[in-house]
Amino acid sequence: MSLEHKNVRRVQDEYMCLHCGRSWDVMDKEPPACEVAAQPVVHTPPARVLRQCLNAPAVTNCAWLVSSLSDPHGDFGLIYAEDRDSALRYAKATIGTELVSVQRLKAMDSDAYGRAPYFEMNPVKLRKAHNAARRPVLSLIKLRGLWA
Ligand SMILES: [Zn+2]
Repeated sequence: MSLEHKNVRRVQDEYMCLHCGRSWDVMDKEPPACEVAAQPVVHTPPARVLRQCLNAPAVTNCAWLVSSLSDPHGDFGLIYAEDRDSALRYAKATIGTELVSVQRLKAMDSDAYGRAPYFEMNPVKLRKAHNAARRPVLSLIKLRGLWA
């Protein structure tokens, strides 16, 4: 047996090193080297950073009514976005007009998911929004036709 191992016990026909956990046959002329496997290094963020993450409110989309200033009928669309600026940017980019206004529609917040802005397309939810806002809330496809 190798004298390199630090804490060897004999267990029946094997030697076992309690330091490195290796075992080998008592007849083995070349036992394995005594090596303790390196522990994986776990990088933990500083406590300050962890606290900031835990205290930060979870940012998710909320509901916004979007309307076109050039639409005489006052038709609305429903956008989910994190904040007013995101909703406005998304509306302008998607509809292709600068003449857009945006207002909160809290009644539809519970239908929002994720963090990427998107238009509501589900007719059931559009009807729910229509009832909540007491205004016609249309799909993006219909709005594009009206606002083009
Ligand atoms: Zn050992």
